[in-house]
Amino acid sequence: MKEYIDTIPVSEAFESGDECPFCFMERAAEQSAIRYVAGPGASYMEPNVRAATDKDGFCVRHMKKLYDYGNTLGSVLMLQTYMAGLLQEFQAEAENFEMPPKKGLFSAKKQASGKDACWKRLQQRVDSCFLCNKIEYNMRRFYHTFFVLLKEPEFRQKVEQSKGFCLRHFARLLETAEEELPNGQREWFYGTVFPLMENNLLRVKEDLDWLVAKYDYRNAGKPWGTAQDALQRAMQKLEGLHPADPPYQDK
Ligand SMILES: [Zn+2]
Ligand SMILES: [Zn+2]
Repeated sequence: MKEYIDTIPVSEAFESGDECPFCFMERAAEQSAIRYVAGPGASYMEPNVRAATDKDGFCVRHMKKLYDYGNTLGSVLMLQTYMAGLLQEFQAEAENFEMPPKKGLFSAKKQASGKDACWKRLQQRVDSCFLCNKIEYNMRRFYHTFFVLLKEPEFRQKVEQSKGFCLRHFARLLETAEEELPNGQREWFYGTVFPLMENNLLRVKEDLDWLVAKYDYRNAGKPWGTAQDALQRAMQKLEGLHPADPPYQDK
């Protein structure tokens, strides 16, 4: 199997032994996005990058990650110009605010003028995120590469030997398959990924069962097996996160 710049992170993720290779890729993409914007390269000083962070801001999850990363001056500079723009927007909102229509007259989401309600625009502001956008761009490429690589028998074998996926990324994998799965791989794909998911959900469920059983004093002396970190792996399987990761920090 020939490796290219696009295929290396995908095949590495499938060799990582992670409970979900897409979680593995997403974490790498997230760390690289944080490093890009706040790291030693100081991209936040480049006018085009600052224009993008001013426009998109950061979501609640990534505000925290930016804080944890630890480049205080970089974060402060980004927030300073983001907030300056936001303040202007907010002043316009306050000036043009229309009281919502009386209950029952219009849809609650629209004003009498037919425009979206103020809270809806503010909510979009809160949710939009420079880092989410950057990560999403990479995730799209990873899914695309996954489906391109499926024609390689060696890669299909890596998928078969992997631990399956988390539920969040599996849902997206099925969604993307509707667009990107080559016709020749339909039988293999659907015949493989469902048993792979089920067997690995079962495996993690059994680890959880044994972790619970270990709290019984009669099992205290028995070996842990693979149950010791079952809590974080179960959380990952269900939602697609690495809850035991330490904060990602500027070194
Ligand atoms: Zn995942
Ligand atoms: Zn975000």
